[in-house]
Amino acid sequence: MPQTADPGEIDHAARLLRAGRLVAFPTETVYGLGANALDAEAVARIYAVKRRPGTSPLIVHVASIEMAQSLVARWPEIADRLARRFWPGPLTLVLPTSHVGADALVRPAERSSAASSSWTIPPIVTANLPTVGLRMPAHPIALALIRAAGVPLAAPSANRFTELSPTTADHVRRSLGSDLDYILDGGPCNVGIESTVLSLAGSQPILLRPGGIPRTEIESLIGPIATAADPATGPHPAPGLHPRHYSPRTTLYLATNGKLPDQGQGLYLQHQNPPGRTNIATHQMPQSAADYAAALYEVLHQADAGNYNWIAIDLPPSTPDWEAIQDRLKRAAAK
Ligand code: AMP
Ligand code: MG
Repeated sequence: MPQTADPGEIDHAARLLRAGRLVAFPTETVYGLGANALDAEAVARIYAVKRRPGTSPLIVHVASIEMAQSLVARWPEIADRLARRFWPGPLTLVLPTSHVGADALVRPAERSSAASSSWTIPPIVTANLPTVGLRMPAHPIALALIRAAGVPLAAPSANRFTELSPTTADHVRRSLGSDLDYILDGGPCNVGIESTVLSLAGSQPILLRPGGIPRTEIESLIGPIATAADPATGPHPAPGLHPRHYSPRTTLYLATNGKLPDQGQGLYLQHQNPPGRTNIATHQMPQSAADYAAALYEVLHQADAGNYNWIAIDLPPSTPDWEAIQDRLKRAAAK
C-alpha cells in the first residue's frame, strides 16, 4: 500500500474534517482518529466513538512548527531545538496552551511571537488541562491531510479505549468502522508504537510516556530527563496513563525464562527464550527493538483473533532501547 494518497481522497477527507466529521488517517506511529482540533463538538465525537474518559487529553497534530507555535502560550527555546531535530516524527511536546487560564503560566517575555495570530484550543481537547500535547507526524498522508484541512487535528489512536492500537486500516475498520466518516489507507505504520510524550510545561523536561523516539536520543540533545510517576504506584497520576491500555481481549502473560501457564491452549511470542513446555504454538518476534515495535500490534491483533486461552510474551531485555516496548507490554498485560 502506498505512503501517498490520491489528492482527491485527501481533499474529500479534508472537507469532511472542516465540516466537523471524523476521519481516520495513517501516521508513522499508529492510525489516528482525527477531528478539527478547533471544533469542540467534533472533538466530543472522538471521545464518544472511542468511549474514552474525558480526563484523557488528546494529542494535537500539526504540519509545521509555525502551526504548533500558534497553539501555545509560549514556545521555549528547548521546544524549538527538539522540534527541529525530531519533527516530523514520533515526539509529542506538552506545552502551556493559549486557552483560558493559560495566561497565569506565561511570563510576558516568553509569549509566543505567533500569539497575535493564535488559535484557541477548546478545553475538551486537553481534558481541561492548561497544557496541550503537540506533534508533527512523519507520514506524507497525515501531513497532506493537515495542510489540506488547514487546521490542526486532534487525534488519539483509532481504536476503542484500552484496546489494542491499530497499525493498519483494516484494524481501524474492524474496531470503529461503522462509527467513522472516512478512513484513509496508507498501509502498515512503520514505527508501530505511539509517540514519546515529553512535558516542557514545568521547570524541568519530564518524560510522560516512552515511545517511538528513545529517551537516550532526546537526552543526547537536551541532557537528562526526569520520568513521570507511574499512576499505578505514584501519588500524582499523569493524565491518560492508565495502567490497563493497549490490551488484547485474550489474557496476556509476561513470561520470564520461557515459563508458561500450566492450563489451556496458548500462543508463545518468543524473543530469546524458547518455550518452557513442548507442543506450544510459538511465533518468533523480531530481534531489534525497532522491528519488534513495528510488528507488535499486528502480531497481537492476529494472536487475539486466534482463539487461544492465553498469549504469553517472552519478555525482551530491560535495556533503554526497549523502554517503550516494556511499557506497552506491561500495560497490555495489566488486569
Ligand atoms: P494517545 O492516547 O496515544 O493519543 O496518547 C495521548 C497521551 O498523550 C496521553 O496518554 C497523555 O499522557 C499525553 N498527553 C496528551 N496531551 C497531554 C497534556 N496536555 N498533558 C499531559 N499529557 C498529555
Ligand atoms: Mg491509544
